[in-house]
Amino acid sequence: MTRPDAQPAASHFVDGAYVEDTSGDAIPVIYSATGETVATVHAATPEIIDRALDSATRAQTEWARTDPAERGRVLRRAADLLRARNRELSVLETLDTGKPLQETLVADAASGADALEYFGGLAVDVTGTTMRFGDDWAYTIRRPLGVCAGIGAWNYPTQIACWKAAPALATGNAMVFKPSETTPLCALKVAEILVEAGLPAGLFNVIQGAGEVGGRLTTDPRVAKVSLTGSVPTGRKVAAAAAGGMKHVTMELGGKSPILVFEDADIEDAVSGAINGNFYSSGQVCSNGTRVFVQEDVAEAFLDRLRVRLDGVRSGDPLDEATNFGPMTTQAQMEIVLRHLDTARAEGATIFAGGGRMARDGFWIEPTVLTDLTDDMTCVREEIFGPVMSVLTFSTEEEGVARANATEYGLSAGLFTRDLARAHRVAARLEAGTIWINQYNLTPAGMPFGGSKASGIGRENARMAMDHFTEAQSIYVGMGPVEASF
Ligand code: NDP
Repeated sequence: MTRPDAQPAASHFVDGAYVEDTSGDAIPVIYSATGETVATVHAATPEIIDRALDSATRAQTEWARTDPAERGRVLRRAADLLRARNRELSVLETLDTGKPLQETLVADAASGADALEYFGGLAVDVTGTTMRFGDDWAYTIRRPLGVCAGIGAWNYPTQIACWKAAPALATGNAMVFKPSETTPLCALKVAEILVEAGLPAGLFNVIQGAGEVGGRLTTDPRVAKVSLTGSVPTGRKVAAAAAGGMKHVTMELGGKSPILVFEDADIEDAVSGAINGNFYSSGQVCSNGTRVFVQEDVAEAFLDRLRVRLDGVRSGDPLDEATNFGPMTTQAQMEIVLRHLDTARAEGATIFAGGGRMARDGFWIEPTVLTDLTDDMTCVREEIFGPVMSVLTFSTEEEGVARANATEYGLSAGLFTRDLARAHRVAARLEAGTIWINQYNLTPAGMPFGGSKASGIGRENARMAMDHFTEAQSIYVGMGPVEASF
């Protein structure tokens, strides 16, 4: 396929229009499948950050007063536009991230459209409660927070922008969004489409830059909330900085999630779940089930089937729809994964499959399976964020659950069994924000998503996200005379 031009009209989208300011540092956009530069943007200067925050502040006041039905209509129109342009947006997502078009056609703009449609529908349904106190009574209304900052990771740039923008805008907020500096292209398209759908200028601004720009948003007094998708170390920094200004936060962070495969599981489904939970997006998915605990009696059968299924990997031109496995999104991430593989070898892991870089341009790593592991090895404890599956064995349910929970993380977990009672018993004991039973990594817009323990605070998607972008205001209504002590 001929590669289309990825260069955006300008670096930033502020107050309803593309805006350029080349005095900010140049940021090359590198197509990770080949290592070529496909576009260049510039980091936001303090002036651009100010313009973005000022226009958001102005626009938000009016938007909060806009009939929620109209807010919802705008979001649903944007969802339709995303769907109508799915192919064009998917190609851009592939150029931004390196993920195969086979994935981006179904997982990125499509998921963003789902979120816009879902929250567009719910916009009219933001309700409070009423209480009685004798003849007096009180009611609550949910008020928008104001201007919210969205800060994104590089693995799902369209989806992350939409998952944050949709509930924020549905509830009457404005957002200034900073994508990861390594994938700056897709959020600009989301901003452009929202304006085309009728979103008033200033309500969704996109500004580019590295952590420093995110840091400025996090501490700016005009910002009422910070919603971050990123790693745990960044989450700690951003939450601490936001706490200084007593800002609301949603933290969608990393994980080292477990998948438990019990002896009565459908092994083919369990292998499919483990493949989806380790190799989709070349393993660059926060909720991946990278610690696969297989019950002893079926471990051999699981690994046999996994080896056969790995023959189905097709790596190659990500724009070819037959390709089902792409590169790492950045050279830096490829190097991190390679270092993890060196450490795993040095600590005694067996490389069951893969184990190294692919011999071609770009940032490619083979789908890798590690065996002969113990729970204290680095590859079993730390998030790798690459195509590396660790397979371990366990004997009893009790042991499996205890080892699955023995981590500082708690983003997700999966379990495969045909025993209904065991499925729900184990799910209830797993310490994670999302548990998949006989499935893995599906995140529909109507299901809350987010982490426990170090994996985050708050939830994205579902009604809960609306709560995280609003706060309750209590209104007490006195019905009788006012008593006073003198
Ligand atoms: P990072 O934590 O490195 O960065 C996330 C974002 O935060 C980037 O836009 C980054 O800017 C910005 N940032 C960095 N430092 C600061 C700061 N001090 N203040 C404000 N913003 C800052 O994550 P990655 O981009 O490397 O993404 C991978 C991580 O994201 C993984 O750990 C993964 O698990 C997690 N993730 C979590 C998801 C979830 O929903 N739970 C989903 C997807 C990913 P820049 O990088 O441009 O410098």
